[in-house]
Amino acid sequence: MQRTDEPVHQGGCLCGAVRFEVTGPFDAFMLCHCSRCRRDTGSVHAANLFSGSATLRWASGGRLVRSFRLAGTRHERAFCGQCGAAVPSVQMEGALLVVPAGSLDETDRLPPPTHIFCADAAAWEPGVAAAPRFAKLPTDEVG
Ligand SMILES: [Zn+2]
Ligand SMILES: [Zn+2]
Repeated sequence: MQRTDEPVHQGGCLCGAVRFEVTGPFDAFMLCHCSRCRRDTGSVHAANLFSGSATLRWASGGRLVRSFRLAGTRHERAFCGQCGAAVPSVQMEGALLVVPAGSLDETDRLPPPTHIFCADAAAWEPGVAAAPRFAKLPTDEVG
């Protein structure tokens, strides 16, 4: 029986075809700098929420969801077969729910993030925190 006080998080993919709902708490929020996560995301690190107790429900587009597991590893990701955006996946025979933080509609109510595999971080990563920040695209800077 589902408790009514459990947190519910909604999210979806880039094209909007896949929508989902996660019910229950997140145990951890990991920013992974390992080389697999950098290749996978094309970015400086992955940003995933983990839960051993939350449940995942596809609100729409569940049939579009594809997954990929790197041979010989536990590195796995799920994505929308239409737009390629990362979506949640149930891993380790159902024991672990992994939710890409960027797939969520709301970014509040998340546990504080932790950086992991920093020894493998990209050489340009230390510059990220110190990089100049603009509220929007700086047209006179980028053109
Ligand atoms: Zn999509
Ligand atoms: Zn990683």
